[in-house]
Amino acid sequence: MNPAALAPWACDPRASRGRRVAQAPAPPRSEHQRDRDRIVHSSAFRRLVYKTQVFVNHEGDLFRTRLTHSIEVAQLARSAARALALNEDLVEAIALAHDLGHTPFGHAGQDALHECMRECGGFEHNLQSLRVVDRLEQRYPEFDGLNLCFETREGILKHCSRRNAERLERLEPGGPAWRFVHGGQPSLEAQLVNLADEMAYCAHDIDDGVRSGLITPAQLETVPVFARLRECAQADHARLEGKRLLFEVLRRLISELVGDLVGATTAALESAAPADADAVRAAPPLARLSPALRAELDELRRFLFAELYRHPQVTQTTDIARTVVSELFAAYRSAPAEMPADYAGTDDAERAVADYIAGMTDRFALREHQRLTGRRVFGGAA
Ligand code: MG
Repeated sequence: MNPAALAPWACDPRASRGRRVAQAPAPPRSEHQRDRDRIVHSSAFRRLVYKTQVFVNHEGDLFRTRLTHSIEVAQLARSAARALALNEDLVEAIALAHDLGHTPFGHAGQDALHECMRECGGFEHNLQSLRVVDRLEQRYPEFDGLNLCFETREGILKHCSRRNAERLERLEPGGPAWRFVHGGQPSLEAQLVNLADEMAYCAHDIDDGVRSGLITPAQLETVPVFARLRECAQADHARLEGKRLLFEVLRRLISELVGDLVGATTAALESAAPADADAVRAAPPLARLSPALRAELDELRRFLFAELYRHPQVTQTTDIARTVVSELFAAYRSAPAEMPADYAGTDDAERAVADYIAGMTDRFALREHQRLTGRRVFGGAA
């Protein structure tokens, strides 16, 4: 990526707001390339391979995990970023880091941990992703965390409750939580990753849903965008069916989404004409889909919620996962010495337990649960 070729509203790495601990540049890498590299080499990134997206890790080898999801998000967001002359390295860094704070067992794990932490500030996975890159990774001599650039951290903190934002803002005035207190948007690169995240999971969860047998092709016909693209695919390939038909429809869905995102965002940028990246932050959201495709994607999401994420077979697994997380929390609270010394000896005992559990992979959480409770959930898994 040549910084001179960036659009005026892109985040230019040469104009970064910098790192919390100042560091000399490391040419020929740009500051955001360097962030991407630090993320890829982090322990939290490697653990994403054994963390649930929708299906718990032991349910099958072909399902998405947080790692493959993050790579797919990075791919979609980079395609769009290149077409829009935005900062591809920054987009990739944000995409690869966006789920680092996820607990084991997906949203069920996060809900359980939030419940356990209710009296002590709660648990939010976006905030935890920032905590991972700011504090919990311990691999550099001079600082805790990865000491990433402001723009990368801004993109990682996608949501934040008002209470937590005010707390962060007191600790770091003008930092990534500023916009949750005072209003405003993140960079276009961050906005692009948010949309790419949604696009990626909608497409891959259909694939995984069908593969698992929890969603049938007949059900998908009730989703307008799916039926429309399936017709187009069969108009071009009359005898296409089964898996190849599904993949062709999903391929068309992704291309259409990325193409539409680039087109609608270009139009929004032309009419808003922001002078630079800071003008983007002060404007309404500029990365967007066209209203027609936005409506189709919303309908697809509603379908996935109703038919996949709330499918009895999925919720049965996630109920067990919730119990595992709550029981682990109780076990470490009553016996902190069961945790590694880094966690056992800290002042904020509850937060230390939450950090330790949040960092676990699905399978490690199951092993620890069995070790501490003597019970084995998910037959054969632990
Ligand atoms: Mg995600």
